[in-house]
Amino acid sequence: MGYINIDVKRRFMGRFKYDNDLLQEITNFIINENIRSGEIRIIGAVKKARFGYFNQSTKEYKFIEKNEHMEILSAIGNISLKNKKPFPHVHITLADKDGNVFGGHLMEGTKIFAAEFVIVDYGENNLERVDDEFTGLQLWNL
Ligand code: ZN
Repeated sequence: MGYINIDVKRRFMGRFKYDNDLLQEITNFIINENIRSGEIRIIGAVKKARFGYFNQSTKEYKFIEKNEHMEILSAIGNISLKNKKPFPHVHITLADKDGNVFGGHLMEGTKIFAAEFVIVDYGENNLERVDDEFTGLQLWNL
């Protein structure tokens, strides 16, 4: 286990733009606001979605695409530095027209219908993503 103590520096509420890519909108926002650590919460709906499942054996992402209108039941994530730049790590849970639920690691290719966000800025700390030899992922340097 490793952890740090955090304080809340700023909080934002807003909505991302219709038809734009959800992950790109999040990334643009946190870079523009220079949020170097923090958290993300989003609800809304998408016109289509693309997310990933990390195969722990092959250490590769499988991409899942849903070309249908879906509700964003929740998208939650964190923000930390990766290669010295603010990086969002977001997981999304979606429901189709019958209430069936799908989800995974949010990828580019998810088109916004409506997306209301709350983003919290924790300010400056030493949290940074580095290569992790056991998982093949880039995890926090804790
Ligand atoms: Zn993930």
